Amino acid sequence: MDTPPENPTPLGMTRDGFANACAQRGLSAQNARLAYARFFRQRDASLLPAFARVEIAPVVKQLDEPCDEGITTKFVQRLDRPETGRLAEQGLPHLDIESVIIPMIGRTGRKGHTLCVSSQIGCAMGCGFCETAQMGLVRSLSAAEIVGQWWAARELLLCESGGTGVSPVCIPVAGAQMTGGTPAPPDQNPPAPIDNIVFMGMGEPLDNLDEVLKAIACLADHSGPCVPMSSITVSTVGRVDGLRRLVEVVQREGWKRLGIAISVNAPNDEVRNEIMPLNKKWGMEELREVIEDLVRVRASRKVLFEYVLIPGVNDSDEHARELGAWLRPFIRTETQGHIGLLNVIPYNPRRDSPWPAPSEGDVSRFIGAMSAQGVYVKRRRTKGRTQMAACGQLGTAEIRRRNFTPMTTNGSSS
Ligand code: SF4
Repeated sequence: MDTPPENPTPLGMTRDGFANACAQRGLSAQNARLAYARFFRQRDASLLPAFARVEIAPVVKQLDEPCDEGITTKFVQRLDRPETGRLAEQGLPHLDIESVIIPMIGRTGRKGHTLCVSSQIGCAMGCGFCETAQMGLVRSLSAAEIVGQWWAARELLLCESGGTGVSPVCIPVAGAQMTGGTPAPPDQNPPAPIDNIVFMGMGEPLDNLDEVLKAIACLADHSGPCVPMSSITVSTVGRVDGLRRLVEVVQREGWKRLGIAISVNAPNDEVRNEIMPLNKKWGMEELREVIEDLVRVRASRKVLFEYVLIPGVNDSDEHARELGAWLRPFIRTETQGHIGLLNVIPYNPRRDSPWPAPSEGDVSRFIGAMSAQGVYVKRRRTKGRTQMAACGQLGTAEIRRRNFTPMTTNGSSS
């Protein structure tokens, strides 16, 4: 069993994990469970013990872009500036976490939201098409900082809907010491306006897997945020070591419906090595083998593939044919239906990008070529591009200009 943290935080812990940690500090587990549920359900921290930590970084920036379904919102939470250590020596002005709220309209016409969360500040993976890669890895986020993004998004949506959320510059928790702003009164039954959570923001989630798994356990906790496991998706560029761990994780009770997305982005090793350096360590054959293992043990047997379509890099007819061949094991079968869904994402140019966005004609042509091979394919609608909030566009320009030193891909953080 993990050693309980000295000052447990409900953010980033399950209800029972929090109760156990509190019990070791002398609080009754039953009271701790009640306090946990009240904290998440009613936004009221007054029952939490004094030794519990509740720190949610304030939202310092909010950028909105209208789209057909509503408003795409990128928001930035600012962490305390490090006083000492490697990050302080680098002279970083501040550490920002970026997240995006994406409006959706479901098949029944119901409006909802997907929250795209970051698992790291920056990223060590170095994908050539991605803004975040330009920062290098600054540091990994804790489970509490990941769940804090969900909390902040809920507050922003409550503000928008005219509820008891407050100004976006403060994150209120009644009864807790927070920085900035006036706490809003707790709701008896606040709406839960976030339907889906995707780990597709800054960072490679499998590079920070322990904290990501703790955050997911909290987000899915029935007494906590209560986001269904089937509505949470972890997206990876293909860290095969992390995917092997996920093969074990998705067999655990309660985890079987966790969504997994693989960013493929290339039809062969040559192109993938060029735009995704991680491929030099784990090539496409090895990647496909571990995905097949994953599919074999999954309850839903489904997996999502993502393909950022970049003009002149991975978008030719020959590329479509090669990609179709690679995806062959995940194409529809008589007994199982479609196992793999291919999401084609028109490239969103990063700052100083050497490539433009693809034309509508090129996107349609590529999708048609995949569909003709029997691949279940959809186009990802572009949202948030003008606010640098679209897929692959998150990142802090100031940190990039400082040419921050990338770290190794061992998942460590400082
Ligand atoms: S695409 Fe994802 S894994 Fe690659 S550099 Fe960007 S954030 Fe990191």
